[in-house]
Amino acid sequence: MMVSDILNLKESLIVMAGPCSVESESQVLETARALKRLGVNVLRGGAFKPRTYPESFQGLGEDGLKILAMAREETGMSIVTEAMDLESLRLVEKYADIIQIGSRNSQNFPLLKAAGKTMKPVLLKRGFGNTIDELIGSSRYISMSGNNNIMLVERGIRTFENSTRFTLDVSAVPVLHEKVNYPVIIDPSHPAGNSRYVEPLALAGIAAGADGIIVEVHPDPSRALSDAAQQLNLDQFSRLYSKIKEISRIMNKNVI
Ligand code: PEP
Ligand code: MN
Repeated sequence: MMVSDILNLKESLIVMAGPCSVESESQVLETARALKRLGVNVLRGGAFKPRTYPESFQGLGEDGLKILAMAREETGMSIVTEAMDLESLRLVEKYADIIQIGSRNSQNFPLLKAAGKTMKPVLLKRGFGNTIDELIGSSRYISMSGNNNIMLVERGIRTFENSTRFTLDVSAVPVLHEKVNYPVIIDPSHPAGNSRYVEPLALAGIAAGADGIIVEVHPDPSRALSDAAQQLNLDQFSRLYSKIKEISRIMNKNVI
């Protein structure tokens, strides 16, 4: 199935999973093989990483994209990966099936316009300081070039609550569904900030009517080069995936 078809299937729940960052060929291939075996069709993984501190791992760049392409070649999975600026967008466009625009770039208007011109599906994350209407405004910078293959991601916003990394705004799911016709995806990993909270947030998002989820999964989270605390290991993801299938049945959605 083409990714562009997936976006039109309102009765579907798209599952995207994979590591926060592409770290090595073995890390990505091990993850991709395990996910594909479970039935997951879209692999995530960042090659260009927006990190808070410049001393932190910044991603493998084009070498990382080549590793993702290798995983697609072997497993047939589609690839979603982040473009951080106009330069990385050119490369991501070449290698990826879905272009991710991250929370920190959610109002980078030149980047949004350029992503719209690619005509590839765009996974647009909500800025953690942005309202739902601002997210919709951002989506219009993509669609103004005629690219309507957009998925909107609720990935948590900043509030006064600090026991989780961000606060997942579950309300964004029904509100976005009322206002726009794009699939709404829940990212339970970044608001959780801790693997313990990922499952409840993922299930809450699907129960609220989300059209998909994007989850961070790593073969050995404790050794991850970014977002180590929140990534699920393969067993944890496998258990979550079973529950995703059960809730999706109640929600009348086919897991794809
Ligand atoms: C990510 O997906 O790893 C990421 C950086 O997410 P966000 O832009 O939501 O912080
Ligand atoms: Mn991450």
